[in-house]
Amino acid sequence: MSGERVFSGFRVTGEQHIGNYLGAIKNYVALQDSYECIYCAVDVHSLTTLEDARLVGPNSLQSATVMLAAGVDPARSIIFVQSHVPEVIELAEYFAMLTPLSVLTRVPTFKEKVQQQPENVNLGLVGYPVLMAADILTYKAALVPIGIDQEPHLELTREVARKFNNHFGDTFPEPKSVHTETPLIRGLDGQAKMSKSMGNAIPIAATEEETTRLVRSAMTDPQRQRRTDPGRPEVCNVYSLHEVFTPGRTAEIHQQCTTAAIGCVDCKGILADSINETFREFRARHAELNAKPDEVRAILRDGAARARVIAQETLAEVRDRIGLMPA
Ligand code: ATP
Ligand code: MG
Repeated sequence: MSGERVFSGFRVTGEQHIGNYLGAIKNYVALQDSYECIYCAVDVHSLTTLEDARLVGPNSLQSATVMLAAGVDPARSIIFVQSHVPEVIELAEYFAMLTPLSVLTRVPTFKEKVQQQPENVNLGLVGYPVLMAADILTYKAALVPIGIDQEPHLELTREVARKFNNHFGDTFPEPKSVHTETPLIRGLDGQAKMSKSMGNAIPIAATEEETTRLVRSAMTDPQRQRRTDPGRPEVCNVYSLHEVFTPGRTAEIHQQCTTAAIGCVDCKGILADSINETFREFRARHAELNAKPDEVRAILRDGAARARVIAQETLAEVRDRIGLMPA
């Protein structure tokens, strides 16, 4: 067991999908064997974009249930809800004073959100990476399992850590990302990143029927108009997903696609079966845990208590380093 700490989190904006699983959750589970891991249902960040705040509570429970069903082990790792450890908000405020607005407005995810919700460009949205830096650095995490899309945010976390250390003395590590072999999964539209909030996702906890229906709606090679046209697997997202979910049959599927021996409907049928097979055990565990919300709530309460001990220690050190007058 290494002395280094791992931290990562999830916005509670909807059901976790196969992109979240392949880009992040898989590593959450694997890293537990070697590190002290802390995983968080990120509810405060969700408020930057969520239209209906009443969903944040139920979604937090649901996100935690998915993480537990996927194999996050509360006996070894801490799993908690972000707002249950309010120290992080205080740290974010100190970090805000060290972060130029010009840096934050250049962050790619901020620019995207401005386009997606021009009527709601709030202070929390521009400060998103500052709160994320506080999430990670409250626990002095050295490693952060994330998908590629989060890389600019982590770069900003390192900048914040460096700046704090330069101003107030060595306090924080500069955390590194940990990627899986599949750090970027495209959505059902075949173009954009699969995202909870974009309606282009396959939830990992979907039923087999829902999965089949969603896979059937996926974009394939746009040039393949008729069943008899040969397909081009290299531009087809369904084929990319076969590489992940049907690894033993990709040569066969490639050959059948390029010779039009199978059509997209058949190809998607095989993919849906592979996805359903991959998540069968997970879904059984998920259904069991879903029926025991009080058990999940107790795990989250215990996680928050353990996380808070670390957070209070860090914040005491931070206030001292900054030179605030002790209470
Ligand atoms: P939202 O649309 O609400 O931002 P999201 O699907 O982007 O939701 P997040 O909660 O922002 O999910 O991210 C959780 C974790 O999953 C992060 O580590 C992120 O990098 C990773 N992740 C998200 N989408 C993908 C994807 N399509 N491929 C690989 N990893 C992903
Ligand atoms: Mg996201």
